[in-house]
Amino acid sequence: MSNLICPHCRTQVPRGATVCTGCQAEVKYGPANGLFGAAFLAAAVVGYKVGHMLPDSMSFGGWIAGLAVFGGLSAVIQKFYGDRVVFNRVYRTR
Ligand SMILES: [Zn+2]
Repeated sequence: MSNLICPHCRTQVPRGATVCTGCQAEVKYGPANGLFGAAFLAAAVVGYKVGHMLPDSMSFGGWIAGLAVFGGLSAVIQKFYGDRVVFNRVYRTR
């Protein structure tokens, strides 16, 4: 367990904390939600295309292809972004 250093105020923040103790920046872990949304969209497109290439009796193949794409992309996202930590400083203007 190593401490994280807040890039905004250089405070050491214990890994797992959700807020920087120095400047109240939000600490977020793991991949951005948008990445999974993009993976889901890509999977839906692939599933749709594959489903239309197959005869009606085989249309479930589209779901399987879509799930496979989503699973694969999710694994890649986790591999590259699973350790990501973002300090999201909230600037209060009011
Ligand atoms: Zn900070």
